[in-house]
Amino acid sequence: MAEQNANTGPRYYGSVAALCQDDVLTFACLTCGHQASMEARALTERVSSDVLIEALDARLRCTCCGERGQAQLVAVEAAEE
Ligand SMILES: [Zn+2]
Repeated sequence: MAEQNANTGPRYYGSVAALCQDDVLTFACLTCGHQASMEARALTERVSSDVLIEALDARLRCTCCGERGQAQLVAVEAAEE
């Protein structure tokens, strides 16, 4: 079940639209360990703005191993003012 996501780190909630465009999100692939960062700006070009941040994991595909639904959001760095 979804229990494997418990206590694995910070979780982020809200819609993609709530992110600052310059925020940088880092995802880690649970399959191969590949990490990738992308600006919220790039993210909002890929998914609709009403998608919830916690639902992103299942929508992203790893650019390294090609596995879908294994990306886990591990960090959000706020844009510097
Ligand atoms: Zn991967």
